[in-house]
Amino acid sequence: MSQQRRLFEPPVPPEAWEQAAERDCLVAELVFNLPRLDSYHYLVPDDLRDLIQPGQRVRVPFGRGNTLTTGYCVSVGADAPTSRRLKSVAEIVDREPLLSPAMLELTRWIADRYLCGWGQVLEGVVPAGVKKQAGTREITCYALAKDAAERLAALRLPARQQAVIAVLQRSEGPVAVDQLAEAASCGTSPIHALRDKRLIVPIRHRRSTMADDEPAPPRAADLILNAVQARAHDRILIPLRESRHETILLHGVTGSGKTELYIRAIREVVSYGRQAIVLVPEISLTPQTIRRFRSRFASVAVLHSHLSDAERHWHWQRIARGEVEVVVGARSAVFAPAPHLGVIVLDEEHETTFKQNSTPRYHAREVARERARRERIPLILGSATPTLESFLRAQQGLDVLVSLPNRVEQRPLPPVVLVDTRNDPLTTRGHSLSRPLQHAVQRAIEDGGQVILFLNLRGYSPVLWCIRCADGVKCPDCDVSMTWHRDRGRLMCHSCEFEMPPPERCPACGQPGLKFLGAGTQRLEAEVRHKFPDARVLRMDSDSMRRPGSHDAALDRFRQGEVDILLGTQMIAKGLDFPNVTLVGVVDADTMLHQPDLRAAERTFQLIAQVAGRTGRGDRGGRVLVQTMSPDDPVIQLSVDHDYLSFAARELAQRQESGAPPFRTLARIVLRGEREELVRGESRRLANVFRESARPYGDELRILGPAPAPVLKLKKHYRYHCQASSPEVGPLLDWWKQVEPLLALPDGVELAIDVDPLDLR
Ligand code: ADP
Ligand code: ZN
Repeated sequence: MSQQRRLFEPPVPPEAWEQAAERDCLVAELVFNLPRLDSYHYLVPDDLRDLIQPGQRVRVPFGRGNTLTTGYCVSVGADAPTSRRLKSVAEIVDREPLLSPAMLELTRWIADRYLCGWGQVLEGVVPAGVKKQAGTREITCYALAKDAAERLAALRLPARQQAVIAVLQRSEGPVAVDQLAEAASCGTSPIHALRDKRLIVPIRHRRSTMADDEPAPPRAADLILNAVQARAHDRILIPLRESRHETILLHGVTGSGKTELYIRAIREVVSYGRQAIVLVPEISLTPQTIRRFRSRFASVAVLHSHLSDAERHWHWQRIARGEVEVVVGARSAVFAPAPHLGVIVLDEEHETTFKQNSTPRYHAREVARERARRERIPLILGSATPTLESFLRAQQGLDVLVSLPNRVEQRPLPPVVLVDTRNDPLTTRGHSLSRPLQHAVQRAIEDGGQVILFLNLRGYSPVLWCIRCADGVKCPDCDVSMTWHRDRGRLMCHSCEFEMPPPERCPACGQPGLKFLGAGTQRLEAEVRHKFPDARVLRMDSDSMRRPGSHDAALDRFRQGEVDILLGTQMIAKGLDFPNVTLVGVVDADTMLHQPDLRAAERTFQLIAQVAGRTGRGDRGGRVLVQTMSPDDPVIQLSVDHDYLSFAARELAQRQESGAPPFRTLARIVLRGEREELVRGESRRLANVFRESARPYGDELRILGPAPAPVLKLKKHYRYHCQASSPEVGPLLDWWKQVEPLLALPDGVELAIDVDPLDLR
């Protein structure tokens, strides 16, 4: 630091001059839970110098009022930017860093990639239970103050206090207050006296109070891999043994033995003393999956959404200490602090629940890819119906494609039969089950098999229709039809949970004559019970499965054979393995097909393939009936043939032609507010700013919009959106970082940006 530069600094009190002259200032770089891309610098006072570490939270004066605010320390350095006076860190919140340097870097990447604040990512990914140190008891530890040695030379202390100092001088780290008192054979008053003299400093410390984990199921041996599995296994082992990153897309139909391969890959990394993370959709975190991993590995941590804060914190600590071999969890388990990770597996990679729908709007697959790249380990993606994003990467040779084309033990994929509901004698009269499906259910039950009926609409009737307005009764707060829930006698909005009794007259035109139209799972249940009075029927949807644990209990009953017909929403479509299911009925295959969504075809294909995968798993075979009003639709046709490759080729060609993902990276910018005029006006103004600022990028950056969002009104807010896209993600991110600071939004309008959006409503 030269004298000259100091001349330009604002006036500084003399003590600060001295401090700065004696040694370099220590400066902490902080980020806050704010949608800001930049960071802040604070001076670290001397007594915190040795305690502060990146990854800890600290409290600092912030903003004009200097209110004490919590921020995350992301780096500590001596190179103080001396051109301005910095405020000082007031206190350190966490004794230990909440995140390792590697995880800090990963969260920074997320902020960059998904265009949000680094502090927002940190706030979002560290579980609340970890921040609160839930389930642990606070104790106070003491350490010698840094300048204690010098000051002690010039001091004469009472004997008891000297004893305390002596204990601390002998010990390697901070000592808990009770142990300190015992070792120094004194009470706490000498300790407090030393604290008041600032010769020793208190440090808060937490001790875990969690009990041990539940007992493991009996251990099971590994299966002998069949020839196709063995070949796939050999391929997966290559990057593992060479410790390099590679993403392997394991494309295998349901029941082809993918999970067995994950287990083998994990077995390998565990033998190197490393850990594995297995990411699954929350919905498939069933006891069945958990048992399968627990029976194969000595220590498995399962991170599901029903964990208490204390449990989550306890698992987090065990994982961080390297005591856990396998972490199984939903999306956020990608942040599990495994110290020496060997592989990441992401099962059912096509599931949309891997994308978070609130800030930070990350996709666990992309975060897993980045983490695996940084840690030089493989990432295994598994699916029967890979996303076109993943499939294209494999086709382009960026990732490795490994296929398991058949089910294990030559079990065939079930035959899929289409039922045209446009001229069926029953469906045209308003029944949910067509004549062929009704007969098939009858026969399956008579033969002692089990039946799954899938319908992706909850409630009794999705629409209460006014013949005069030719429109459904809508939620007053949302642009969404109200669903009739007969069991509660209420209309419900599935977007905002608003409820009301059904009106006698149309709220729009005031006329009587409202009609219930269409069928949801409740109505399907009534029809099934009526048609098969002797069958044991169970409905599974988010209404009937409200209590925690009810989902698992219901599936258990079905597996035990206590239920003949299981009907429900997507809750039953995924990942379940029931050998006795001989019939699956898709009650309405068209619900997804006609959505205004670029992935409507992909979702329809996935859905039919997934549902079909629920049957034919045992020795008795099985079949699938799909009811549709569009039997000639090519997507439906290809799903009947289980022909993923043709579907992917066809759909990729269409996406390429329309410049849609995966050929371009998309970002959706949504403006929302309670005053529609204001939101619409702002969306026009911003779209102009976007287009203007995008001009230098030429065709690298395309702006679409503004347009009203497909669901214009949601929870009282009107929504307009724009889309930006670029062939590679780079220009898009670069552009947004330039344009974002220029967007001065008026009060009453909020903006959200979603990179790689999956929800386009
Ligand atoms: P996926 O994950 O592709 O659905 P799984 O790994 O769950 O497939 O395998 C489907 C079924 O086949 C499971 O019941 C599993 O235990 C069994 N299985 C898998 N591999 C083998 C094998 N090599 N030998 C015998 N059974 C196997
Ligand atoms: Zn609503």
